[in-house]
Amino acid sequence: MTTHTTRMLIVGSGPAGMTAAIYGARAGLQPIVVQGLQPGGQLTITTDVENYPGFRDIIQGPWLMQEMQAQAEHVGTRMMWDTIVDIDLKGPPFRATGDSGEVYEGETLVIATGAQAKWLGAPGEQELGGKGVSACATCDGFFYRGKKVAVIGGGNTAVEEALYLTNHSPDVTLIHRRDALRAEKILQDRLFANDKISVLWNKEVLRFAGNPAEGGLTHLELRDTLTGETSTLPVDGAFVAIGHAPATELFKGKLAMDANGYLAVEPGTPKTALPGVFACGDVMDHIYRQAVTAAGTGCMAALDAEKFLAMRDFANKEAVAAAE
Ligand code: FAD
Ligand code: NAP
Repeated sequence: MTTHTTRMLIVGSGPAGMTAAIYGARAGLQPIVVQGLQPGGQLTITTDVENYPGFRDIIQGPWLMQEMQAQAEHVGTRMMWDTIVDIDLKGPPFRATGDSGEVYEGETLVIATGAQAKWLGAPGEQELGGKGVSACATCDGFFYRGKKVAVIGGGNTAVEEALYLTNHSPDVTLIHRRDALRAEKILQDRLFANDKISVLWNKEVLRFAGNPAEGGLTHLELRDTLTGETSTLPVDGAFVAIGHAPATELFKGKLAMDANGYLAVEPGTPKTALPGVFACGDVMDHIYRQAVTAAGTGCMAALDAEKFLAMRDFANKEAVAAAE
């Protein structure tokens, strides 16, 4: 068992973790990034990215993450291919144990473990991912300009995604498994008042149908949850909006979370209640959930971590001087 020590330990290798690493390395903190089970994070499971600033043409999500990693390494970040299975926040130093048995100790800790969209698990959903099936209207809605789309779910996210999609599509169908939405009333009012949106009540998706190699999604096979009757809905795009799960299992009982399990931070900052522990990206943001916002809060986490260390170093020096 080896113990790897660093001034900045970063857990997670999506846009938040990689950006924290770039800033941390350039501040001389020699960060360690522990990559986790999804090296590069969520963008590695998508194809076209058209809203990350700096690229006029569509870029590929996995390519963008390779570039972020290369940039982080270039300025001095150490990459570890490991998954943290246990964490001790009684530091600093904060001590994380990897699946490999290796131990990582950071004088500061940046948590960038992200979140995962929940999927239905219906046949065709995975195969047609990025080829008609998506979990992010802000990311992919633009690709369905003038086309027919569906949103599955009945919460705030589903209603917001349906409303957002009307910016691009004249024909949006919201599919919900019950006869009442969970979304807030004000969102429901906006939904029902929008003539581009129709609602299919009491329907579940049995199958996402189409050819991944040619044309992608063509239609949804549906079943009525009351009568069992089956039907088909021709669509070009389907957005699964049944919630997200933040990757915060490790921190239960150790860090404050909101009702949905997202890490709580001081508003407008990446600071958790524990000095020296910062959270950035989707793990602390259930609203924006974008690569650029994750990168932005990753930058903020690194800047705050650097400031935390500078102040602590200064206080330590003062204490030594006073004792002499
Ligand atoms: P993530 O990208 O979720 O990364 C989390 C990281 O934490 C991963 O590397 C994982 O391995 C690691 N991790 C988790 N647990 C552990 C552990 N225990 N130990 C070590 N590591 C751990 N956004 C856009 O801006 N534009 C788009 O076009 C776009 N398209 C998308 C398409 C899809 C299909 C999806 C799913 C998302 C898309 N998004 C898009 C959203 C964007 O990907 C996320 O907002 C962004 O990736 C969040 O970054 P993050 O760094 O916070 O977390
Ligand atoms: P959510 O409130 O948990 O709603 C999930 C929806 O998906 C529910 O309608 C649920 O149906 C449906 N669903 C779940 N599993 C399903 C399955 N397997 N098959 C079909 N449908 C399924 O999730 P969310 O909408 O992502 O919201 C999460 C949290 O963030 C909530 O607290 C929400 O208020 C908050 N949020 C707030 C805003 C805002 O304030 N503007 C925006 C977005 C999210 P049932 O209703 O039948 O259970």
